[in-house]
Amino acid sequence: MSLFGKKEITGITERVLKMVSESAKDAHPNEFAAGLREIDGVISELILVPGTVSGPVSAILKLTNLPVDYSIVGVVHTHPGRNPSPSKKDFNMFGRYGRIHIIMAYPYDLDSWQAYDSTGKEIDLEIIR
Ligand code: ZN
Repeated sequence: MSLFGKKEITGITERVLKMVSESAKDAHPNEFAAGLREIDGVISELILVPGTVSGPVSAILKLTNLPVDYSIVGVVHTHPGRNPSPSKKDFNMFGRYGRIHIIMAYPYDLDSWQAYDSTGKEIDLEIIR
């Protein structure tokens, strides 16, 4: 049970993943971060925060200043290296904000990402085409 809602998130649209991929390539070698909004249990929208390409930590701080919106279920960010595992800083952030976290690593394609819950445990999301 979580403050961020009870509905289970089971999927993510291919469109959102492609938007993350494009934004990640634009931001490279900087990291990119954005909020994730779910509709009916599927992550369906990216919430872009202006001025966030410089680093995910500042992006997430800006997101937490947005009005409370329970449809925002978590944050996606990118790693300019090939490792999509959460860093220590990521684990701290996972526990504080949101309940789904996605990390997309270089080369930012549909196979180079992983979703995690707020404890950092890997979770499976179906790609909805
Ligand atoms: Zn990270």
